[in-house]
Amino acid sequence: MDAPVSRSDAARSDAPLIDPFARTIDYLRVSVTDRCDFRCVYCMSEHMTFLPKRDLLTLEELDRLCSAFVGLGVRKLRITGGEPLVRRNIMWFFDRMGRHLDSGALEELTLTTNGSQLARHAQALADAGVRRVNVSLDTLDAEKFARVTRWGRLDAVLRGIEAAKKAGLAVKINAVAIKDFNDGEIHDMIAWAGDEDLDLTFIEVMPMGEMEEQERLGQYWPLTQVRRTIAERWTLTESAHRTGGPARYVEVAETGRRLGFITPLTHNFCESCNRVRLTCTGTLYLCLGQDHAADLRAPMRASDDPAVLERAIRAAIALKPKGHDFDYSRQKVDGQVKARHMSVTGG
Ligand code: SAM
Ligand code: SF4
Repeated sequence: MDAPVSRSDAARSDAPLIDPFARTIDYLRVSVTDRCDFRCVYCMSEHMTFLPKRDLLTLEELDRLCSAFVGLGVRKLRITGGEPLVRRNIMWFFDRMGRHLDSGALEELTLTTNGSQLARHAQALADAGVRRVNVSLDTLDAEKFARVTRWGRLDAVLRGIEAAKKAGLAVKINAVAIKDFNDGEIHDMIAWAGDEDLDLTFIEVMPMGEMEEQERLGQYWPLTQVRRTIAERWTLTESAHRTGGPARYVEVAETGRRLGFITPLTHNFCESCNRVRLTCTGTLYLCLGQDHAADLRAPMRASDDPAVLERAIRAAIALKPKGHDFDYSRQKVDGQVKARHMSVTGG
């Protein structure tokens, strides 16, 4: 195994990654595949065209790119997709990233998954140094689950969650709040998360990927309303808890668990954004809701010199925009990112 990457040997300079708005970039989300074994209705169309395999970075290249970011001060790495656990041999990559945890260069290695393959991989993830996983789950009703994911099975995901807990992983459930779909289940989900010792976060549906405007607006359930509904039944107190991501938390007195809200529409959190996103083809997106991007694959392939890659990364960070423009408030979908499904850059 190679020596662990430390700040001093991987980076050509010790300067952290700072964007034009003086935000330090220390969080990288990596979409390791655009493929998925589900077709969630808000994320993908039923008939997706995926990238040809030859366009994907190899796992070795992903290792090289992510290690370069770690060398430049990235402290948190979240592996996402598509569904990361369907990428062949992905545990090799987790093990490789684990060496940066061992060296102390990386503070946290996490995963966002649909849970379908989690039962198989939970122990290996824990062994690689993963301590927390986010599992996406929008409903506890098997029939509704099959409907919203098109191809998924609830029992496999529940088994995955069990296995993750058994392996000692902290599990957070991410649920997209969808009008006329899971609005009637919110209280049941909070009670269930309490019983199962899981934190739970609700996410506002974002206008990613081509979709009929009326269909998208029809899905949108502002979390300000969700929160009001929740407060009718549960005692909520503000929490200062942060995980380095965009969620804001409250404590639920009755369950003793945290409840998070990710509210890109009703409360814009861009001013404190510390994140950039790498796709499985080596494109770095500087903002989930804007198209500012830079190709890192070409400079990486052009030279083995780490200084070349560092220059490309720093030049990309200089492109980071102030924030996204998602807005549904005028009863139409503004700021939409039509060309890019969520599975390209990961959630
Ligand atoms: N397949 C994995 C999963 O489902 O967790 C990782 C990738 S998925 C794109 C990451 C997160 O994005 C999931 O929690 C999913 O619910 C969320 N997501 C997908 N499309 C979305 C959209 N249009 N608006 C809000 N969240 C979305
Ligand atoms: Fe797949 Fe995750 Fe998108 Fe669902 S949300 S289709 S599980 S990538």
